[in-house]
Amino acid sequence: MTTDTTRYTKPLPILDELNRPFWESTKAHRLALQHCSECGKFRYPINHLCPHCLSDKYEWTPISGRGSVYSSIVFHQVYNQEFADDVPYNVSLIQLDEGPRMLSNVIGIAPSEVKVGEKVEVVFDDVTAEVTIPRFKRID
Ligand SMILES: [Zn+2]
Repeated sequence: MTTDTTRYTKPLPILDELNRPFWESTKAHRLALQHCSECGKFRYPINHLCPHCLSDKYEWTPISGRGSVYSSIVFHQVYNQEFADDVPYNVSLIQLDEGPRMLSNVIGIAPSEVKVGEKVEVVFDDVTAEVTIPRFKRID
């Protein structure tokens, strides 16, 4: 999936030392998360400390990119003018198979048809030359 990168005007993540490996992985069309070196759990959102054991040790580790819809809502209101052409769209919380939950969008179906519990997998949306946003699509 590729967007016209010369015209992308929506907000973009600010890459820093902590989050750069995540965005480098999505740019390579892989999903990687911080994997705690102490307790072995994955952590997300990206954080200096493990929310389970407070360790600051981790390694960026590839994950499957599969999960299920934990919750989903449809945005009808235009909160940011850059998204005016997108409403209505869904914002979905994805329960990743590895444990953490990730806010994203389920694409490829009408926003109101996204159902809690259905299986999804990551797809990669190259929005600029530097940034690729992970989104999810339904799998059967
Ligand atoms: Zn830990």
